[in-house]
Amino acid sequence: MTDLDWQLRGACRAHPDLDADAWFPHESDLAAAKTATDVCRKDCAVVHACAAWALDHGERSGIWGGLTAKDRRKILRERAKDVDRETNAVALYRKLRPGMRSDYQAHVAVADAFRVHHRTVLKWVTAAASHEGAPAT
Ligand code: SF4
Repeated sequence: MTDLDWQLRGACRAHPDLDADAWFPHESDLAAAKTATDVCRKDCAVVHACAAWALDHGERSGIWGGLTAKDRRKILRERAKDVDRETNAVALYRKLRPGMRSDYQAHVAVADAFRVHHRTVLKWVTAAASHEGAPAT
């Protein structure tokens, strides 16, 4: 079993009637894209694995996991923004924490600034520390 075994269960394998024009449509051909994305979204048991693989591997063209290339570009842009946001929130936490009475107080201050729940800040700070191999506070 490999990490690509999900491909063997893709609904696209049961649709030889759909050719490359459907699976790799021109970006302006919304009708062709819809034909393929409908198969993914309505019939495919591995749609999430397929979408994740395409996003993780930077597939630039074609329909994968019910997503067009344009859909994937948008998701990747949003992911990049989230990474920046998380990084900025952790930086603010580290700046504020020394002047505050508790970790919790600093989490709440950063949460207010970034309009997220304080436990989200705790998660971000813990993850950052874990990546750096350091304690969270
Ligand atoms: S999600 Fe779509 S492209 Fe991916 S395996 Fe399923 S049917 Fe094929």
